[in-house]
Amino acid sequence: MKLSKAFWHTLREVPADAVIPSHRLMLRAGLIQKSGSGIYTYLPFGLRVFQKVEKIIRDEHNDVGCMEVSMSVVTPGELWRETGRWDDFGSEMLRFQDRAGRDLCISPTNEEAITDCFRKSVTSYKQLPVTLYQIGTKFRDEIRPRYGLMRGREFSMKDAYSFHVDKDCLDRGYQVMYDVYSRIIEKIGLNYLAVQADAGAMASGEAQTHEFQVIADSGEDNVILCEGCGYAANNERAQTGRSSLDFGEISQLEEVPTPNKSTISDVANFLNIPEHQTLKNLVYTSVTGEEEQHVLVVLLGDDEVNEVKLKNFLGSNHLAAATDEAIETLGLVKGFIGPNDVKDLKTLVDSEVDVEKSYVVGAGKVDFHLKGYVFQRDGKNFEQVDLRLSRNGDSCCECGKDVVEKKGIEVGHIFQLGDKYTKSMNATVLNVNGKAIAPVMGCYGIGVTRLAASAIEQNHDENGIIWPKEIAPFHIYLAMMAKKDENKEIGEKIYCDLKKAGFEVLFDDRGLGFGAMMKDAELLGLPLAVVFGERDFVKTGEVEIRVRKNGERCKVALDSLVDHVVKTWKEI
Ligand code: ATP
Ligand code: MG
Repeated sequence: MKLSKAFWHTLREVPADAVIPSHRLMLRAGLIQKSGSGIYTYLPFGLRVFQKVEKIIRDEHNDVGCMEVSMSVVTPGELWRETGRWDDFGSEMLRFQDRAGRDLCISPTNEEAITDCFRKSVTSYKQLPVTLYQIGTKFRDEIRPRYGLMRGREFSMKDAYSFHVDKDCLDRGYQVMYDVYSRIIEKIGLNYLAVQADAGAMASGEAQTHEFQVIADSGEDNVILCEGCGYAANNERAQTGRSSLDFGEISQLEEVPTPNKSTISDVANFLNIPEHQTLKNLVYTSVTGEEEQHVLVVLLGDDEVNEVKLKNFLGSNHLAAATDEAIETLGLVKGFIGPNDVKDLKTLVDSEVDVEKSYVVGAGKVDFHLKGYVFQRDGKNFEQVDLRLSRNGDSCCECGKDVVEKKGIEVGHIFQLGDKYTKSMNATVLNVNGKAIAPVMGCYGIGVTRLAASAIEQNHDENGIIWPKEIAPFHIYLAMMAKKDENKEIGEKIYCDLKKAGFEVLFDDRGLGFGAMMKDAELLGLPLAVVFGERDFVKTGEVEIRVRKNGERCKVALDSLVDHVVKTWKEI
């Protein structure tokens, strides 16, 4: 591609809301353009990257026998009603009606549509297992679209769905897809972790689910990793314990004044004890179907609630910390709530609270706490559940070693769905005994645009992007500084020779100065640059090769240029 004829415009300034590197650099390097909140046009050079990501995804899926389909972007509401998700999906689903008043939505995901396709075609176990996938546009009306393509409202995703006659077959198919996902990310060359994840409301029955997390400071997820045994989980799901804690002697329950001390740290400081010797008492409001209930959650003073675990335990559709009004209506005093003044509230005590040890808790009245509270002796009707958020320095549930916490970008998520969709949509096949059964499903999603953005998060410097070879929009940036026609012809010849050798070459023939050209070259971040400068060439007969990744440069004679480029390309 010759830049003099290309549609490519780099930017010096980007809007203030572009805070993470991939968002800033994609805008600055002229890869994408914003058209609305969370909605972007993919510009020619950006599109080349996404198409390369797609190709890697496609090749890996086709390689294991998956088959590509393309489902409609708009899906009828009646399909979503069959599984109950028309009502349950929430406001991320963009719903509308056609001229005849029929409900429709822009697909945020496609379990219903694929199950409908399956039930219209497959009748026998002999046609199983089968895995179908598609690559295309999804729309989710995200509450906070941000970070450019990282959390857009419209984005490109590959979604795959598999159907199996039983759980054993699903387990095998799931492992195949786990390996496919690993290979895709490895091929792009990113540093990632496959972690155990939370299945939320996606599945029925006991189900495996993993997320593929690209490790980056800008990640929105926290993952817990044990470097000892390799245990890795999203912290929504992680089960870790506190390392050994010290406690005081068991004593009588005693009321102590704690004037104006309503936070854990104030109380701990005032009483001169570590925070883990106090208990945090939090009231939550949970809604399940039509029913609303309040629950008391009790944790070690310096622990935080894992709301995902709490929501799963309660089976809530909606969960939030109780409002001040709700707390008052329950007759409780915020800042001084204790486990004994909650009357008939369900009380859930985190498993890390040792019910035989003595803690400081709220006394149920302003400016007082209770010292020496022992759950086993003083508590009533409580249940112990794992409800705390894991963190750095906890001990691993598998091997006991200390775990570390890292920031991750979820680029892929795979689930075992069970028969939730086939059952509710009456998609059955005849098994080997001629009996109608609902097959079990897996579903597998990977973000095309998010993968490209994550690649930039892991590979950039202050001057621009440093594309991994496999997904760079072009391989080589050929910069030509030549005024004389005979030298321009040499530039053209280099361009042709490199193309003939199989390289995708972006030929900067715009006649810009060296500085401006190199700025653009570094910003766009192609793996190699070849610099043909008239003045140097006339003096030495040499051309320069630059490696974007490590800044290495070497000058080579014109007639050995292609060989050197081929060699360097192999090495990087
Ligand atoms: P998140 O927790 O980040 O919202 P999700 O759990 O909703 O993600 P899935 O439904 O599992 O995501 O979708 C599969 C993949 O699609 C994700 O792993 C991610 O790569 C991509 N994806 C999901 N939402 C977005 C989005 N708003 N913008 C860009 N990519 C997205
Ligand atoms: Mg989401």
